[in-house]
Amino acid sequence: MLNFHILTIFPEMFDSFCKASICKRAIENSKVAFFLHNYRDYTLDKHKRVDDAPFGGGAGMLIAPQSVCDCFASIKSHQIGKKVINLYMSASGMPFCQQMAEQLAAYEEINVLCGHYEGVDQRIIDTHIDLEVSIGDYVLTGGELPAMVLADAVMRYIPGVLGNEQSTQDESFSYDGLLEYPQYTRPADFRGLQVPEILLSGHHANIRAWQRRRALEKTALVRPDLLQKAKLTPQERREFLQNLLPNNLN
Ligand code: SAM
Repeated sequence: MLNFHILTIFPEMFDSFCKASICKRAIENSKVAFFLHNYRDYTLDKHKRVDDAPFGGGAGMLIAPQSVCDCFASIKSHQIGKKVINLYMSASGMPFCQQMAEQLAAYEEINVLCGHYEGVDQRIIDTHIDLEVSIGDYVLTGGELPAMVLADAVMRYIPGVLGNEQSTQDESFSYDGLLEYPQYTRPADFRGLQVPEILLSGHHANIRAWQRRRALEKTALVRPDLLQKAKLTPQERREFLQNLLPNNLN
């Protein structure tokens, strides 16, 4: 059982996420639980404000430390002896990736701080955060959508959450580091568009070889950076990495 503790001033954003699809089933089957903590409930400000203007000037407002730190203290007081990690969803954090998702699934409790406005006071990060995590090189309004992205990817690694455990191994970014090959389902002929013949042959070795080839071609085309770290045979390395070398080394 993995517990997500989300620190947010917009807990209602998680309603539909928790009530649909795999997340809903994972909650019902006690594989994961979501605890939504509105740090506005912890503010000592008589107007219930959690933000203030940044020292040194600059546009926008920052989440001030008091409400978030008191919220963290309350959550952490119930997590003594547990395997816990504290994350801050941040545009300037470490890029989130599949490997990170798999590693995070080993924790019992994941505390996720969602910032808003121009972000959060640095002292919150210095005193309460183990890792800042970014979901991509763009800036969103708040950390809630990034927190859902992270939770979705992590929970897929909890045994029993996906119907078929093989799913996490056959996918893009998984064990061989390639993007996934194209896939097809019935009908074999859809308005004149045919499924590749080989997939109907029943010849498993040939099908595997075709899938491998398509995965290599797609990765080379769309994400050549992944090929450098992918698990390739010496022949694949020669064929696919050769094209990536600068012209003068070819
Ligand atoms: N001033 C910040 C900066 O330049 O990095 C951006 C603040 S953003 C408008 C408000 C909040 O959205 C952040 O505190 C963070 O929690 C979240 N956020 C925005 N983009 C994100 C991203 N790419 N990944 C993770 N969180 C993000």
